[in-house]
Amino acid sequence: MTKYTPTIWLEIHVRIKSDTKMFCSCKNAVALAEEPNMNVCNVCMWFPWMLPSLNKEVVRLGLIWGMMMNCDVNKISKFDRKTYFYPDNPTAYQITQMYEPIVWKWFVKTLVNWTERTFAIHHMHLENDAWKLIHAWWKTLLDFNRAGSPLMEIVTDPVFHDKDEVMEFLRELQKLMRAGWVSDADMEKWQLRCDVNISIAPEWSSILWARTETKNVNSFAAIGRVVEHETKRQISILEKGWVIDQETRGWNDDTWTSVSQRSKEDAMDYRYFPEPDLLPVVLSDEFIAEARKQIPELPIEKRIKYLRVYKLSDDDARILTTTRELSEYFDNLVDLTWDSKKSCAYITSVLLAMMNESETIKNITDLRFDIKELAKVIDLVNRDELSSTNSKQVIEELFNNGWETDIIVDENNLRQKNDTWALEAIVDSVLVDNATQVADYKAGNENIFWFLVGQCMKASKWTWNPKIFNELLKKKL
Ligand SMILES: [Zn+2]
Repeated sequence: MTKYTPTIWLEIHVRIKSDTKMFCSCKNAVALAEEPNMNVCNVCMWFPWMLPSLNKEVVRLGLIWGMMMNCDVNKISKFDRKTYFYPDNPTAYQITQMYEPIVWKWFVKTLVNWTERTFAIHHMHLENDAWKLIHAWWKTLLDFNRAGSPLMEIVTDPVFHDKDEVMEFLRELQKLMRAGWVSDADMEKWQLRCDVNISIAPEWSSILWARTETKNVNSFAAIGRVVEHETKRQISILEKGWVIDQETRGWNDDTWTSVSQRSKEDAMDYRYFPEPDLLPVVLSDEFIAEARKQIPELPIEKRIKYLRVYKLSDDDARILTTTRELSEYFDNLVDLTWDSKKSCAYITSVLLAMMNESETIKNITDLRFDIKELAKVIDLVNRDELSSTNSKQVIEELFNNGWETDIIVDENNLRQKNDTWALEAIVDSVLVDNATQVADYKAGNENIFWFLVGQCMKASKWTWNPKIFNELLKKKL
């Protein structure tokens, strides 16, 4: 039986997080759900006599993002006019960079099943977003809020061969966007969307066969499903001896099915020509050097460090590198505590859980207490002066009200004592109160030991050191 290999490449649109739009000074509202037509002017509503002027910030952010991964910078890039008519595009053209994109040729490094891999990017170009159509029941309304918002279009080489590679690459891409403060790349908010090109060929073939393109898939899970579904669909066609239609397909993520939208025969001719209203973009050495200074440490480098040097779990290393702010917080905490395991645990299982529940504190940058206070908590736990159960209470207090660790610990009487005489009294009374269990233990039921430790901790209201109870009980039993 013939074996088939899928080859996949992606075209990804990302909304750039600049303050203002691409060609005018209107606010670039990256979050959705604002009143329609709030951020508009004559330029972004494309009145015939208005001229666009390019936002420097958009160029700077695009450049930073490419340079994070050592792209080739096009010192002179140009804009082209792409002609097409669609109701969300009343000008009947889009300004894009067809022939001279701003940056090109680089690699994104990530981990796929624990192995370091690099995937080639063909180029990234800048272009403006279209309008938004809102279909009311008897009419269609136009919202110009996102008209003229800046987009990056990233085009990969045909370098992926399965779902895992595609998804790990996209997750890395999203982290890179966030680390460079280029975009939040939130798929739910339509800030990142992806066209998936798939071509199946028999294993012996070294050329690309006909491909299909599935448009605007907007969740990672859905992209994985598209790759699986389309691979199977094309293989079943080839196995019947038929030919794959080169076409554009639409994915329905409710039914997990796709339908043909446009075949090669009705492919549009976009009649690209140089944009007459914009000069070429010329990047000076100073501008490039200035952008280079703003390049952060790459999330993948951090993740590899967390895995290999700090020996964190794969899940934890991924979570901590979700955003630049979170990984920087973790790095700073490790600098203060020298304890990467506990720093990680207190962030991932305590702080993030609280942020998840909180209405007001959603980001690590919103915390009301100084990072030194959290370091202090970890230090007290490490010195056996605070139990790990009580440490959560202290952090909750810090989280809700700010304040200082030492004050919270003392005011709530949480400092663990290590006074042997008083501890012995507790142990003695626990042994008397639980005579039956003690007899059980002596008869060979070793699990009872931990029950007794628990009873001692309870009797001491969790303010004492369990290690000492442990030793005392062993001595007395
Ligand atoms: Zn405007």
